[in-house]
Amino acid sequence: LDFLNNKQVTILGLGATGLSCARFLNRHQITFTILDSRPCVAASAQALALPYCQGVVLGGWDQARLAISDVVIASPGVDIQQPLISESMSEHCQLIGDVELFVRVNQKPIVAITGSNGKSTVVSLLAHLASSCGINAILAGNIGLPVLDIIDHEADVVILELSSFQLETLSTMQAEVGGILNISDDHLDRHKTLENYQQIKQRIYPMSERWVFNRDDDLTWPGDNQGQAISFGLNSPKANQFGLQVDDKVFLAFDGECLLAVDDLPLQGAHNWANCLAALAFGKLLGWPMTAMLTGLQTFKGLDHRCQLIPSADGVRWINDSKATNVGATLAAIEGLADRAERLILIAGGDGKGADFTPLQPILAEKVKTLITLGKDKNSLAALKPGTLVVDSMAQAVARAKAIARPGDMVLLSPACASIDMYPNYMARGEEFATLVKEASYV
Ligand code: ADP
Repeated sequence: LDFLNNKQVTILGLGATGLSCARFLNRHQITFTILDSRPCVAASAQALALPYCQGVVLGGWDQARLAISDVVIASPGVDIQQPLISESMSEHCQLIGDVELFVRVNQKPIVAITGSNGKSTVVSLLAHLASSCGINAILAGNIGLPVLDIIDHEADVVILELSSFQLETLSTMQAEVGGILNISDDHLDRHKTLENYQQIKQRIYPMSERWVFNRDDDLTWPGDNQGQAISFGLNSPKANQFGLQVDDKVFLAFDGECLLAVDDLPLQGAHNWANCLAALAFGKLLGWPMTAMLTGLQTFKGLDHRCQLIPSADGVRWINDSKATNVGATLAAIEGLADRAERLILIAGGDGKGADFTPLQPILAEKVKTLITLGKDKNSLAALKPGTLVVDSMAQAVARAKAIARPGDMVLLSPACASIDMYPNYMARGEEFATLVKEASYV
């Protein structure tokens, strides 16, 4: 940490990540100042109680402070491209993220996983596979546990979930294995173009020794040098590839060999088969035993708010996919689930983060009986399908769905949008939906 000695260090953002940076610097006796644009932040008192905290400046990005900073540590939620920040920093100022700080100190092997969708599912599944192989893995990063909070934990391997925002401020990671699960339109309000977003995700490859990529998604390809890479895809695998093989049933397969029937997986939907294949590919490159990993695959139940069935007594399958915060996730949910119901009613909407919704149009026409929209972008979504019901609240959405749905139908909450226009986070949105469904369906 020599690069921080006698330097002006500034933390941007006082959420969970900013606070973890503050605690880390404090433990290492490095003084720092924290900035946050919000006028009132709950964690201020905690930060100010740290002896090495020189101050917390709220209500804007203090330009004078930024101008004298030697090192700025940005939280992933802070848009570092905004001129108020980017133009205030001097030329010599180093801009890094908490993960960069982590990798400069960490000694443990790292597996790094990014992608537009499925990151949390795959990293959690990989941790589950590790435990079935008797390996002590620790999960951190975008999954909700800041990396600096686990820096002193004992582990054989650290599994990092990395968002594009974390990759943007990361440059010296040396992961054992790194990979991109998929790339689709997301966060373009901050990354502007898909090319730029892809380039940021691709930063993971030069920082990893061996690679996993999705051969169904060109944007994840690491380029010509694929000697150290294993791919996965939903087609028949060639040498050193994971894929699907059809025999009497559909199987997960590697290198021409059937491994496990997809019917034996608790995770449903083709996108989850891809997630399972990806996790196997990471495990394989780490040298984990295949038999133990296959046992692990059969006991992983998936995460809340991702295509999760809500128990109900009305014969309708109510599904909470509140974590579908972009178009790609909603496409995957509809493709994976629509054929399991007589008719599909979709509830979508929220803050689209500047995304183009039109890729949803064909599948809405083909597979969705009725679309119900809510939230900030409800009208843009409604324009995609004639006869859409536009509502003002989740309670209205569930009531309208309930009035239409018959036994054998499915009602899917898969918003294709972030939740911040109506909720603190996607969990709160999913929980409200689940509560309303339980009230509505136990009559
Ligand atoms: P992330 O951490 O990347 O946001 P999650 O595992 O939390 O990913 O899943 C986010 C959303 O994406 C959920 O709605 C989930 O159903 C959907 N999803 C999961 N895996 C995939 C995939 N491989 N492709 C597309 N969508 C997916």
